[in-house]
Parts: sequence; C-alpha cells; structure tokens
Amino acid sequence: MVQTDKSAGPFGYNGKILHVNLSEMSWQIEEPDEIWYRTYVGGSGIAAYYLLKELQPGIDPLSEDNVMVFACSAVTGAPVSGFNRFTIAAKSPLSGGYGETEAGGYWGPELKFAGFDAVVVKGKAEKPVYLWIHQGEVEIRNAESLWGLDNWQTKERIQSELEDKRVRTLSIGPAGENLVYFASVQHEMAHFHGRTGMGAVMGSKNLKALTVRGKEKPNWADKEKLKEIGRWHNKRIKEHPANVNLTKLGTTFQVSILNHNGILPTHNFRDGVFSGADKINDEIYHETIFHSKGTCYACAVKCKREVEQKEGKYLLDLRHGGPEYETLGTLGSMCEIDDLAAIGKGNQICGLAGIDTIGAGCVIAFAMECYEHGILTKEDTGGRSISFGDADAMIWLLEMIVKREGIGNILADGVKRAAEKIGKGADAYAFHIKGSELPAHDGRGKTAMALGYALSSTGADHVECPHDTAFMGNIDPLNPVGLLKPVDPLANDTDKVRYFSVGQRVWGINNCYGICNFCSVPIHAMEFERLVETIRAITGWNTSMFEIMKASERSLNMSRIFNTREGFGPGDDRVIRRWHEGFKEGAHKDKPIDEKAFREMIDLYYEVSGWDESGKPTRGKLIDLNLDWLIE
Ligand code: SF4
Repeated sequence: MVQTDKSAGPFGYNGKILHVNLSEMSWQIEEPDEIWYRTYVGGSGIAAYYLLKELQPGIDPLSEDNVMVFACSAVTGAPVSGFNRFTIAAKSPLSGGYGETEAGGYWGPELKFAGFDAVVVKGKAEKPVYLWIHQGEVEIRNAESLWGLDNWQTKERIQSELEDKRVRTLSIGPAGENLVYFASVQHEMAHFHGRTGMGAVMGSKNLKALTVRGKEKPNWADKEKLKEIGRWHNKRIKEHPANVNLTKLGTTFQVSILNHNGILPTHNFRDGVFSGADKINDEIYHETIFHSKGTCYACAVKCKREVEQKEGKYLLDLRHGGPEYETLGTLGSMCEIDDLAAIGKGNQICGLAGIDTIGAGCVIAFAMECYEHGILTKEDTGGRSISFGDADAMIWLLEMIVKREGIGNILADGVKRAAEKIGKGADAYAFHIKGSELPAHDGRGKTAMALGYALSSTGADHVECPHDTAFMGNIDPLNPVGLLKPVDPLANDTDKVRYFSVGQRVWGINNCYGICNFCSVPIHAMEFERLVETIRAITGWNTSMFEIMKASERSLNMSRIFNTREGFGPGDDRVIRRWHEGFKEGAHKDKPIDEKAFREMIDLYYEVSGWDESGKPTRGKLIDLNLDWLIE
C-alpha cells in the first residue's frame, strides 16, 4: 500500500541532518524541506552542498576550519542489494581540493535507523572524542582511552563501553591519528573509506569514531513494491554473469584478465605484465588464503573475501577481511610482490592502522623505484634495502608510514609531497593526479577510464565512469541513456568523450544515491527502468532517469566548483607521464595515450559539459542545474 503520512520526514528520509561543532562540544539538528532533499538527494550531492556552503576556500585541510560530512541518501537501508553505500567528504589533505570517498558495510543504514540522514562535523575537539548517535539522541563522549588503539580494538572497546554488540562503529586507527595523508576511515575492518585522506581529517579533529545504533526503518512510500523489487533484484543477481563472477571470485579475477591484456600496473606503472601474476591470481587466492565470503547490509552479491593463514611467516586473521583487486594490484604487482600471504598481511596492517591500500601501495612502489635509481639509499632507510619484490620491505615500510618514523615520515605525506621533500629527481617517479595516488588500472588500455582519472574532482579515481569494456560488445543495457553502438577501448575521439560523459553521469548516480557500483546500472543486475521504479517506491516522487541523472550531474558540477575556487585549472586535468609512453612488452606494447588527442578530448568534454575553456561550469550550466546560488 502506498503511504501518505510524511510527518516523520520525506519518504525515504528522516528529514534530519545532525550538525556537530567539536570546538564548542555542541550539536543541533537541521530539518531541510523536501525540495532540498529532492535537489541534493544524498551522498556526494549533500556532501558537496555543505562543503560549498560551510567551508571557506584556502583553509588548511588539517585545521579546525575543515568541515566533514558523512552522508546517506533516500535509498540507504532499503531492502535492495547494494543500497547501503554512504559518502564521507571534506577538503582533502592529499589534493588540497575536493575530497570524497564511498564504501558500503552497515554503518550508513544504521545511521538512517538511528534517525539521521547525514552528519556534518565542524571544529576540533580539545581532547579525543567519539560520537554516539542512537535513536535520535547524540552524545559527544571522551575517547582519550581509545586514542592509539587500532580499528579492531576501537570497535571492541566501544561495544563493551556501550554494552551493546550491535552498535556500528566508523573509526580511525593510528595512521589517522598520526595524520598520514592517505589515512582511511574504517568500518568493520572490511569496509575502507580509503581515498582522499579522510582519516587524517578525522584525526586532525581529534574525532576517533562515530558509533551508531537505531531501530526505526525509514518510512518508504511503497513497501510492498520495494519488497517485490528486492526479490527481483536478488534473483537476477544469481543469474547475471557479472554478478555471478563477483559472488564466486570477488574482484580478484581482475589480476589474470588485466595481466593477459598487458595492463596490470606493475613496477610503479612502468610495465603492464607482471611475471608473478600467476602467484596472486584468483585461482591461487581461493586455493590458499581464502576462507569465506563476506558481504554488506542486505546484499546478495557477497563480493567480500575473508582470508586466514594460521602458519608461516605472515599470519592472517579471519576477522580482518581479505585483499580486494585494488590491493592485489597496489601492494602486489605495483611493488612486484608475488606472495599472497604478504599482500594479505599488508591489507591487514592497512585495515587495523587505517590507511588506504591504494595510496600505501603506490607510495611504496614510488620509494622502491627511487631506491632502484639511487635517489633513496640505505642512508635514507636506516640501512635497509627496499627493492621491488621484497615483501618484508613492503611490510616494514607500511609500519614505518603508520608510525611516521624514519623514511615512513616522508612517505606518509603521499607521493607528491614525498617527491618534493626527497628532491634529486624523485618527481620523475612520483605518479599522482591532483595529488592523489592512482588505483590499479592503467589508462593505456582504457581511454574512458583515463578521462575519469584526469577529470574526477577527487584526483585519480577508477570508479568515475564504467570502464571501457562496458562500451564494447553488446551495449543494449546502455541504450536507455542514448548509447547505441560499441566504442573501442583505445578510441580517443568524439565518440569516446560522449560515452565518458554519459557514463560518468550514470555512475555519479551511485555516489549521489549511495548504491554499490557492483549492484547498479549499467554493468550489473540492476536495470534503468527498475532503478527508477525503486526510487519511486522509496520516495514517492514521480521521478525519471532525466531527474536522477540531473542530480548526479549537479553533484559533479558542485565538486568541480569547489576545486575551481581552490585554484584548480585545466593543467590539473591530466594523466601521468608514463601513460604517454608505450609499454615495452605485452598485449599493449607501443600503444601509449596520444598526448595531443587526449588534451583535445578533455577540451571537448568541457564543451559537452557546459564548462568554459578554463574548465569552470558556465553561468548557463549552473542555472540549468538549479545551482544559481553558485554563480558568484
Ligand atoms: S557487491 Fe560487494 S561491495 Fe557491493 S554491496 Fe554487495 S558485498 Fe558490498
């Protein structure tokens, strides 16, 4: 039956945003109207709104002036697979620009059940604190005894203090406390809000954790319809090839595919083929360290891996989650490590201490290449060799970074700043985009993905747009958004720009609405028409793909405006030098990204997007997106 009572807030929402001021140790609740919710929706939309409204340009990201947003959306907590993701955003210490990161797990739905749609945190607490949010109540609690604990210990200690094992905790470990620039925010060990240094921002605010517990499901407009869609989606997940593969192998299958295609990032992006790939691929993973599957709230895909190793040099604890593809690529092939247990151990250290495995793997590969070229020597490392392929060196460097000791103190600032500090030509091996280290995908084999790396407001981002394989072969699933014929992964022409632009707005929906990319359109089991039906059933809005994609485009433009007012320009929309050079071997040998053609694609994208030559959204585009308040 369709509901009519909106006294508890717009359907799908609580109608409440929690604002916390840590400097004043106070909090208050804002109750925006339904038009505001329908305009900014959730996740990246709500986050960008508050960062633009409440954060002054030019502030130090690690000062009390930074603003942090933890945002769910209308759909968070709905009984549909993958509708559990939420956004954490603030000004990024890595880039000095817009910082945003998404993950699934259970915390977002629990925040909704606790009575809030988002939390906005300002200021800095004098001493460590954590937030306890439950059933519409808020407490700012002392966390001095938690400071210094790892993420697992923090979760356990808070559960015991609150005498409730069902509370959900989002926390930082020692890396966030020590202001490691690529520190993550961690939830239940397996869920990393890894990118853009949000853990360091939490650390700079003396905010150790946010713990939530709630019992009230949001008021969905049409519960029966929602249940029917949930059942349909779960059935389709069991049949859809992309989801069947994810259930069986998680993301680990990508090692073999990318290596076969000659684009597995290896040796700090120098190579695309890794001689040790057969030792870290999905087959060996599932024969050796794999123990069981993990999942997120209400998700039938179960793509998470849990690993265990009870004997040998690197012991793996089942509770701490297993490495996903990005970690196999960055702590593995990028550093030429072919020992799965060592990579699992690295993943465990990152989860406990709270560091992004992508940032960590890239900065270690950078240090190994500096060492290879004599830019870093044993004098810099306290007498230790840090060569490619040395698993013990990888583990040692991780521990030094977390503690900010010795060479680790330099590397903890990320590759861009570390290269500046090291000097001696180190910047030739420091690969980043807008200060952000690169995920484990090589743009030389996927030009739409390369555009995503170049154009994302958060710097190198592998989930900015569906990867180019989505635009090959049968593209019927993309017909509803106007993409009608396949495009070559290596194309660098007008077709590719059009496909990227549409693809970016489609995947932007997932950040805005808080949906897992593995459960959403256009590659996996969800369909465009069913997505619209789902959002109608949750919100009661007479909505359409047009409105849903406009919300995505609005949030993309708001984060772009955030960066332009921080001084970013066309020169920041680029990829790394090595991608303009060819591989020396493998399936993509001698096929670099043509620098001139790539620049022309970026300029064309500005035009397509309604941006001027400096890459800034025009007055007309802002009016089109109902963002008139951003014109000045
Ligand atoms: S597909 Fe995987 S990451 Fe996505 S919601 Fe399901 S279990 Fe979580």
